[in-house]
Amino acid sequence: MTKDTRKCSFCGRDGKSVEMLISGINAHICDRCVDQAQIIVAEEQKLKQKNKLPSFRLLKPSEMKAHLDQYVIGQEEAKKVLSVAVYNHYKRIDAASRSGKAVDDNDVEIEKSNIILVGETGTGKTLLARTIAKMLHVPFCIADATVLTEAGYVGEDVESILSRLLQVADYDVASAERGIVFIDEVDKIARKSDNPSITRDVSGEGVQQALLKILEGAVVSVPPQGGRKHPEQKMVQINTQNILFICGGAFDGIEKRIGSRLQANAIGYSASKEQQVIDKDNMLQYIAPPDLKSYGLIPELVGRLPVLSFLNPLDKDALRRILTEPRNALIKQYVKLFEMDDIEIKVDDDVFDFIVEKAIEFKLGARGLRSICELIMMDAMFNAPAEGADKLIHITIEYAQSQLNLNNIGRLKVA
Ligand code: ADP
Repeated sequence: MTKDTRKCSFCGRDGKSVEMLISGINAHICDRCVDQAQIIVAEEQKLKQKNKLPSFRLLKPSEMKAHLDQYVIGQEEAKKVLSVAVYNHYKRIDAASRSGKAVDDNDVEIEKSNIILVGETGTGKTLLARTIAKMLHVPFCIADATVLTEAGYVGEDVESILSRLLQVADYDVASAERGIVFIDEVDKIARKSDNPSITRDVSGEGVQQALLKILEGAVVSVPPQGGRKHPEQKMVQINTQNILFICGGAFDGIEKRIGSRLQANAIGYSASKEQQVIDKDNMLQYIAPPDLKSYGLIPELVGRLPVLSFLNPLDKDALRRILTEPRNALIKQYVKLFEMDDIEIKVDDDVFDFIVEKAIEFKLGARGLRSICELIMMDAMFNAPAEGADKLIHITIEYAQSQLNLNNIGRLKVA
């Protein structure tokens, strides 16, 4: 028997001291070196991926709007404004990354246009922002302005928003730097008093000042794991210049300010000029930057949110459509859930009207549709997957009514 004299051509170990030796044309490799090589290849690939600029899918504004139409009911104006703003924003980034600088050939610098959406809670502001981000395949996070405080006070630093974005981007800084941040409830950080010189306003103006810095584009030191900054912590530098900020707020009572501005303007006009008829039921459609200022946002912040749009309150018809029409409409979700257990579910048409009526009666808005559906479906979801249970569930109006009474719909009522 001939002696095995083969050795690993990489580490030099002989056949006896390794688990396995794989032979090629004129070299051999042991199992340990295969493992090592695999790790090196994976690391190299990861590095390559990181250095590559993250890509995003840039659609034309009309295509973006068509995509939004699949998920968001109504809100035509906001969808249009948002599509154009987002298109311009990413076109600007795309052009800059191709030319390798932040200005175009004629040295006309295209400035970033952050967005502010004003509308009652539950009318689709977050949904719009989330859908856009998903469509573009860019990192997206939601921050709540009410928990932010200026540095040094109890609460979250404004930088925590960027920590969250970085986490969502899987700690890929380049990808986070092209993400979208939705800042909810910006109206809650409005200056409480019209007189800016009064004592320091911790909750309001200080936070607005801090936000301003990240909104306008700056290199910010961010604690990667979130939490408060402390001296020993390792920081990550994030440039916010290409991060798109979409702010949202209900701005309760802003209609009055819009009204008085419109009235003041009307007086200023010459008497002969024909006056526009104002739709008093939906004053938000006339919103303009001065209204945000008079509500208590500092002028600098309003200036950094140049794209302003509004969302309409949801009427009965809109709620009814939300229930059944969007790509991932609530009812479609239940059908799919039951389908997974091979169960077919049929919901009568008048049940939809009934759910909408209840949502309006209990002032629950679009968010309430889900809670009401859950109450109606609870027993069916509990019983249907059991052995021998019916494979067809029929939700009639009587069944829906009895389930809501049984499950005490009253507890959904907002105080
Ligand atoms: P907002 O941010 O304005 O407070 P959201 O976007 O979070 O409200 O809306 C809450 C939920 O209500 C959404 O997740 C969605 O299911 C539903 N919804 C609200 N408005 C719409 C709409 N216009 N079209 C479709 N669904 C909507």
